[in-house]
Amino acid sequence: MTRLIFLGLPGSGKGTQAAILAGLLNIPHISTGDILRNAIAQVTPLGQKAQSYMDRGELVPDELILDLIRDRLNQPDAQNGWILDGFPRNVSQAAFLEQLLQELNQACDRAINLEVPDEVVVVRLLARKRPDDTEQTIRRRLEVYHEETAPLIDFYRERSVLSSINGDRPPEEVTESLHHLVNG
Ligand code: AMP
Repeated sequence: MTRLIFLGLPGSGKGTQAAILAGLLNIPHISTGDILRNAIAQVTPLGQKAQSYMDRGELVPDELILDLIRDRLNQPDAQNGWILDGFPRNVSQAAFLEQLLQELNQACDRAINLEVPDEVVVVRLLARKRPDDTEQTIRRRLEVYHEETAPLIDFYRERSVLSSINGDRPPEEVTESLHHLVNG
């Protein structure tokens, strides 16, 4: 049973690595960014509410995300472990998650911080060509990360579940380190 939270800048490779590791461990990869992009593509009420925030590189309001996470973690496939990618994104989401996991009698094993310098992720994101990967939005997403999400590094360090991995390496090496960390 493995329950992991992935932290890292947009463009850190966190989504790619979370998907690979989830496949290796046979547990769901839960990406709030993917869920929101799907909702936008399907023009659901959630997607319509989320789109303008995402286009600007802002976080969508917590109330759009919290019920969604509660529902997802209550699904049968999430009872055997999970990897959370892109959630929590701020301290209030982390506090909500802590409470939710207590209710579910679960606990996160590790929060993994995938470390990549800002200037490296900017180059990667500009090459990626997702709709929210314009230069202005990228700059805003990095600011939002440092202001709102980076405090979670201390949040999880204080709870003694933080591990850091150097993400500024070839993807296969990062995967190997992650695999080693989780199995070791
Ligand atoms: P990501 O794919 O994780 O980089 O997320 C893309 C965008 O979706 C972010 O820039 C936010 O606008 C939104 N988003 C994803 N996850 C969250 C979350 N947990 N809380 C608020 N906004 C989110």
